[in-house]
Amino acid sequence: MADFSHSGGEAALLQPRSDKPVMTFGPETLRDRTDLLREINLVRQGRLVERRLFLIVINIADTKKYDEIIRVFGYKFADDLLGIRLADLEFITRRQPAFHVGFWSVGLVFEADDERDYEAALSRLLGTLAKPLICRGIPVAIKGGVGVCDLARGLGSAEDLLQATFLAGQAGAELPSGWQECNYDLSDDHRRAFALIAEAEASLATNSEFELSYQARVDLRSWRCVGAEALLRWHHPTLGLVMPDEFVPLIEMTGLVRELTAWVLTRAVSQTASWHTAGFNLKTCVNISAKNLAEPDFVRRLAALLEQYRLPPAFLELEFSERHRFENMDDAEQHLWALRELGVGLSLDDFGTGPNGFTSLETIPANVVKIDRRLINSVANNARQQALVKSLIRLAHEMGMQVVAEGLELPATQKMLLDWGCDAAQGFLINRPMPAEPFMAWLSKAFVN
Ligand code: C2E
Ligand code: CA
Ligand code: CA
Repeated sequence: MADFSHSGGEAALLQPRSDKPVMTFGPETLRDRTDLLREINLVRQGRLVERRLFLIVINIADTKKYDEIIRVFGYKFADDLLGIRLADLEFITRRQPAFHVGFWSVGLVFEADDERDYEAALSRLLGTLAKPLICRGIPVAIKGGVGVCDLARGLGSAEDLLQATFLAGQAGAELPSGWQECNYDLSDDHRRAFALIAEAEASLATNSEFELSYQARVDLRSWRCVGAEALLRWHHPTLGLVMPDEFVPLIEMTGLVRELTAWVLTRAVSQTASWHTAGFNLKTCVNISAKNLAEPDFVRRLAALLEQYRLPPAFLELEFSERHRFENMDDAEQHLWALRELGVGLSLDDFGTGPNGFTSLETIPANVVKIDRRLINSVANNARQQALVKSLIRLAHEMGMQVVAEGLELPATQKMLLDWGCDAAQGFLINRPMPAEPFMAWLSKAFVN
């Protein structure tokens, strides 16, 4: 697991970490998901008739709250808070062993004596999760959620039931009641989404299932390669290649997005630094989630990472999608300006089709605007879109920004973009994203750098 969030020295902050769990209550003190699956299968073998058995997933705090706590009080405080909450939950975890099932989530099989016993336990659980905590004399309101599955009703595999209950726990945190019963009828899409969410943490820790592909950014006038965009791929052991459009939004629903971006940044920065050593002075562009800007020390850790690999900040560009919404605009803006001050580039991604119109041009202090590929893809045969793209280019230039067109597939579009003064382009006409090694081989052949 990439240690972007917890203890460790500055330079180590973005290093992949394999030996320690992310949570203080992780595998050190709790058994993991696989053991819980075994337990579910065991109790399902015949004992359902005598006792009422429930699978319960406790989501200790919703991720929004978790981010807020870290922003205001720091990581050590968040760890202490978690420790106190886990102690509160001992009334149930002493009775039944608990297992670590996800980011700030524990699961257990609850054997109720009867209906009343179950209802009393659930109500005490919800009361405990809603109780404000006092940590170092400071009262903090955190509200978790609970997912419940009646094992007599759940007919799917243990894995499916756990996934559905995990999701119910996440949804429960958003409900006034604080809990939700799982959806017993999982569609294949649900099942796949749950599997991806539940497995992302362990997959990231393997350090071999995720990989970065690179796509060239080419200057339209000189046709020189001026940069590369790092695009994440997940080689899932059973599902095969999973693309970021599918898994990034799922991971963004969990606290793990912190670890994911940390992993991507570490990989991209170290790769770029080694390209520089080999004589290719490329700039690398990395996609960042809006949620990352809620991390209080994002900028400091990024500065430490660049320092560690001795990469000048100007050779890194962070891309923020126009479609993203920042939860706390003031904090996000402060971070964005701090990033500019650090000297890294900022680009406004997917521009021209998002819901925010031109406001994102004002709120994101970008030096580059990337025109959305959906607009570029179809521009060659559409006069209205031609007028739009032409105006967007002029507008961005007037605001002092460079313009990159993404999704360039046709030579006709390339010519138009050049005529309109667009600075650079990316797209299948130039190359398809590919892993670092073939990308370098392609670059050496295609360009005299
Ligand atoms: P994006 O940032 O807009 O990235 C460009 C996407 O357009 C890539 O899809 C790329 O393969 C695709 N593309 C490039 N040229 C062409 C073209 O000529 N035609 C067409 N049709 N498509 C083209 P990909 O790699 O599937 O990534 C999808 C999205 O996933 C990205 O869109 C980005 O929003 C997100 N993403 C990718 N990697 C990361 C990551 O490391 N972190 C985060 N947070 N998001 C990522
Ligand atoms: Ca992008
Ligand atoms: Ca884009």
